[in-house]
Amino acid sequence: MQGKPAILSVHSLILQKNEETMDVQANLKKVLNDIPQQVSLVAVSKTKPVDMIRKVYDAGQRDFGENKAQDMAAKYPQLPNDIRWHFIGHLQTNKVKYIAPFVYLIHAVDSLKVLKEINKQAAKNDRVIDCLLEFHIAREESKFGLKMDEAEAILQSDAFKQMQNIRICGLMGMATYTDDKQQVADEFHQLTLYFKELKQKYFSSAGYFKEISMGMSGDYPIAIREGATLVRIGSKIFGERG
Ligand SMILES: *Cc1c(COP(=O)(O)O)cnc(C)c1O
Repeated sequence: MQGKPAILSVHSLILQKNEETMDVQANLKKVLNDIPQQVSLVAVSKTKPVDMIRKVYDAGQRDFGENKAQDMAAKYPQLPNDIRWHFIGHLQTNKVKYIAPFVYLIHAVDSLKVLKEINKQAAKNDRVIDCLLEFHIAREESKFGLKMDEAEAILQSDAFKQMQNIRICGLMGMATYTDDKQQVADEFHQLTLYFKELKQKYFSSAGYFKEISMGMSGDYPIAIREGATLVRIGSKIFGERG
């Protein structure tokens, strides 16, 4: 019996903490205050319910990011149609069809194979789909992404040159999950160097090749200092994911 009040008070503390982090509109404002005007915010709403997304929408946010094709396709019809849906996860070829009719930007293209499928599905939907090439910049082995020679092989291929329904608008990357800020800065800096090199070699006259998508809740200030044009922020707006 003695333990009971203690348990209750821990419980109410947890509730209090949740309410704090769940004020998604206030969280959005705080994040926006940190971001210069020329940098766009993608609010990463993966795993979060549509009513919560609508609150963030009502505070003015229009760019949202999801990492599962079926989740994105399920949320899309339940929310206002001026939302720009960013696909930020690893995209499997057989899932492209679910998002092709409406997706605004696909951030993590990492093979010619998936690019071909995006082109095909975009053509079926009579549209052009904007994409970013995902680069491997982290020292961790597990993360997806291209190396420079792989990206160049895609850009130089005849298959790519014939694609009429995709547009490569820039690069995306994820830094190593570490407290070492210098390492994170070095990795983001590397992505900016890759961007500049590809811009010069393949996209010098393409105004649409202008995006560098990097930075998440834990590292976006560093990403912005290193040249991010798009940051993808989830937990700092929507609270921790379960
Ligand atoms: C989940 C996710 C984010 C957002 O992560 P937070 O740490 O919650 O801000 C950004 N980018 C990608 C690719 C993600 O999967």
